[in-house]
Amino acid sequence: MIHIPTLMLALLSGFAMLGVQLWMARRSRLRYLDLGVWTSGSWILLLGFTLLAARIILPTWISALAGNGCIAVGLVAYSEGIHRHVLGRGMPRWWIWAGLTVAWLLIAWMLAWPFYLRTIGISLLFAALLLPGIGVLLGPGWRAEYSLRSVALTLLLAAGSLLLRAVHAWRHPEDYQDLLQSSLGQGLTFLFSFICLIGTGFGFVLANFERIARRMEDMASTDALTGCLNRATADALLRHALELGRREQTPVGFVLLDLDHFKIINDTHGHSAGDTALQDFVAEVRRRLRASDVMGRWGGEEFVLVLPSTDAAGAARLVEQIREGVEALQIRHACGDAFGITVSAGVVIAEPHRHLSAEQLFTLVDQALYRAKGAGRNRVHVHGAAAPWPEVTPGPAAA
Ligand code: GH3
Ligand code: MG
Ligand code: MG
Repeated sequence: MIHIPTLMLALLSGFAMLGVQLWMARRSRLRYLDLGVWTSGSWILLLGFTLLAARIILPTWISALAGNGCIAVGLVAYSEGIHRHVLGRGMPRWWIWAGLTVAWLLIAWMLAWPFYLRTIGISLLFAALLLPGIGVLLGPGWRAEYSLRSVALTLLLAAGSLLLRAVHAWRHPEDYQDLLQSSLGQGLTFLFSFICLIGTGFGFVLANFERIARRMEDMASTDALTGCLNRATADALLRHALELGRREQTPVGFVLLDLDHFKIINDTHGHSAGDTALQDFVAEVRRRLRASDVMGRWGGEEFVLVLPSTDAAGAARLVEQIREGVEALQIRHACGDAFGITVSAGVVIAEPHRHLSAEQLFTLVDQALYRAKGAGRNRVHVHGAAAPWPEVTPGPAAA
């Protein structure tokens, strides 16, 4: 037979362990760690279960009232933690207070009931308190972090086991004469509580670290101001696209964009207006790119585009459209008038049979941009189009 006090002790130690570990993790002060409410929830649940177990020394009604009351608060804290983590905001305050008031009143009212009926009522109440969290996890949370799926499944298991417990108590009231009575139904409830504690607690912590890892990855590969890929990542993707183009015998377009007279824009409208111009420029270019195209910030106000499977005519058409789109932009900055910007572009096509290395492409695209600037800015120069540059001899890297 399952020994309930032993299971209860295991559950209490589990909550204590989780509480201490969450508390320690919070002390790491990682900026995106979102464990505050969850940690409080774990401590409150520990307190709740301890108060329930304390019926051996406390009057039963105090133990039941305070213990179940704390568990209700802990479960609401878990739902609140899920809301904050997934949706970025907590549940409406009135939901929390209305839910808790109803829960506490029901718990107090149920004190007068026979134990098996109280078991049914409390089980249904706790399952209901899990629902706001489960709802969010099965909705937007399902697509957020993979680890949240284990939290969702474990909470579903918890709600399911509470419902089963209610049904079991209804059909076998003799098994539910006291909380510490050793019976299969009671034993399974505590066992499930333990599994849920482990599953949800560690799943939620993993979800937090998964989010931090993804943020770090994003930060390491993107430019903070514009959200474009940074130079190192764009460079790696260019080399990858060149390899792929060579293997599949398709041309790869490489474009260098440089905003015109950007120093003057900064001097006239201020650096912050210049930043807004860079962001609007990137948004304008991005909306014209295909999903397989790559845009990266090469430095300052210079950007590169890598266009897989794109020939000279296609690249010239796209970049000309970009140039026109940028010319038509009106940059609106919070503390100034609207102003316009223009862009010059150099374009090179890496034909598979020419075996150009990335370094040779950089040289050629730079020359093409130089031609566009020299010809008066706000224009596109495709390498080899009007006045071909001398062919570059393939280097060892391209052999
Ligand atoms: P050109 O037409 O020949 O390209 O003229 P330019 O003034 O754009 O020349 P240059 O490329 O030398 O100047 C780049 C300027 O871009 C200088 C720098 O202050 C500005 N810049 C670089 N990065 C940023 C940034 O992140 N924000 C802002 N606001 N300005 C930047
Ligand atoms: Mg410039
Ligand atoms: Mg420049």
